[in-house]
Amino acid sequence: MPPSASAEHPAGIAVVGAGFSGTLAAIHLLDTCGPETPVLLIERSGRFGRGLAYGTPNASHLLNVPAGNMSAFPDRPDHFTAWLRAHPAEAGMLAGTADSRSFAPRRAYGRYLEGLLAEAEARWPGRLRRIVGSVTDIEPVAGPGTKGVVLHMEAGPHILAHAAVLAVGNAAPQPLSALAGAGAAYRNDPWAPDALDGLDADAPVLLAGTGLTMVDMVLSLEDRGHRGPVLALSRRGLAPLAHTARGDAAGPPPEGLAAGPATALVRTVRRAVAERGDWREVVDSLRPRTQDLWLSLDRACQDRLLRHLRPWWDVHRHRLAPAVGERIARATAEGRLRIRAGRPVAAVPGPGGALVTFRPRGAGAPETVAVARILNCTGPAGDWSRLPDPLPRALVARGLAVRDTLGLSVAIAADGALIGADGLPSDTLFVAGPPTRSLYWESTAVPDIRRQVSALAEHIGRRMPRSAVA
Ligand SMILES: Cc1cc2nc3c(=O)[nH]c(=O)nc-3n(C[C@H](O)[C@H](O)[C@H](O)COP(=O)(O)OP(=O)(O)OC[C@H]3O[C@@H](n4cnc5c(N)ncnc54)[C@H](O)[C@@H]3O)c2cc1C
Repeated sequence: MPPSASAEHPAGIAVVGAGFSGTLAAIHLLDTCGPETPVLLIERSGRFGRGLAYGTPNASHLLNVPAGNMSAFPDRPDHFTAWLRAHPAEAGMLAGTADSRSFAPRRAYGRYLEGLLAEAEARWPGRLRRIVGSVTDIEPVAGPGTKGVVLHMEAGPHILAHAAVLAVGNAAPQPLSALAGAGAAYRNDPWAPDALDGLDADAPVLLAGTGLTMVDMVLSLEDRGHRGPVLALSRRGLAPLAHTARGDAAGPPPEGLAAGPATALVRTVRRAVAERGDWREVVDSLRPRTQDLWLSLDRACQDRLLRHLRPWWDVHRHRLAPAVGERIARATAEGRLRIRAGRPVAAVPGPGGALVTFRPRGAGAPETVAVARILNCTGPAGDWSRLPDPLPRALVARGLAVRDTLGLSVAIAADGALIGADGLPSDTLFVAGPPTRSLYWESTAVPDIRRQVSALAEHIGRRMPRSAVA
């Protein structure tokens, strides 16, 4: 404990990160904790309510979930659709066109979240403290009759709180060692503001990864007038499928769907698809049940599902807005985008960028391509001890966080508490959002996270001793 901290008293609950998860956690904490509890919302970017997904300025980056499923509140499913209707200009949509099947721009969703936070702030005057800064380390403190955490900031004084919710989102992808030799042409963080800077419009580009990040990068390239060939490469070459333009409706869950061996689950789902003839209906019917089914499997089953089924599940489950699906299909049909199955094996600096050698799946002979830019689109890294961000690494170094057994992120208890190296759940550190994938697997999209965050806020609210929170 820093000497200065011992003389202070913790105040309220800190939320680290103000993307969707942190913003919603702050709103629920304001509503569920006693009126005397301050909520300290800490965000390093200075933008509250946006996060990575909804901070994009690009209007072509659409939500991949229809408006009817994007309400921040599961008990008010029409909330976001109603907001879109009431704010056509902010939503960037024509008045009267929004309905529950609309795929709004992601930046409009960020505007919606900003509005929700401002409303909660007005509802509870003086209780929300917005703090711009980066948390670099957290240490638990315990004094006579009080327990809490000290949050160390990159700049400025540390912050004391009774508990902290880590809503730090997805980490940048793990660097691809096979491509490290490419030099300056290789960009590990495709979301970095300068990731596409200096790229000639006719230059060839390699996207390593063929998921949703790849799709965003293709749209961003096209929107800046890029004409050069784009090669997207992943082990299986599977790219996200699209929602249908008519709108996909979830059917009833497959008959006989129950917790049990993974093979039985897969059989049940396959049978339902064969019977109904519409895989989208079946996949969507599983959505509300996915977390419970996942929790019902033992670790060995979970591991097998991840190894064999995850890539297939992801492309069917996390689908593209129809307009985005059409653009990707057009870019592919016109030869501007090639999606291939293969594995990069080496890269060296070359004329105009880099020479990348990859081994196509199933073929013996490696191929070499010349590209001007390589973007790592493989998705978030899981191992907190190897992330470049100081906070996750510090938590691991202190033994406050450990890798989960499936290597998805960190070990988390059923109530959202971080599990330490001693195997015990913390009573002051909690996790919200995508890093809880180690517990729920599906902890990515708004419909997964909103339920979890409201339960976490209630749990924390119940645990905070009323006399100790001021
Ligand atoms: C590109 C993209 C598109 C997506 N599209 C959709 C969609 O259409 N529909 C859907 O349902 N889901 C979508 N998702 C899923 C998305 O993960 C969730 O919807 C949600 O946005 C996750 O929010 P988050 O707050 O947990 O994480 P993030 O949005 O990553 O926010 C984390 C925040 O924490 C801050 N932070 C991190 N570390 C620190 C620190 N040490 N100190 C201070 N601040 C810190 C960051 O600056 C950031 O603002 C998308 C995800 C991505 C990446």
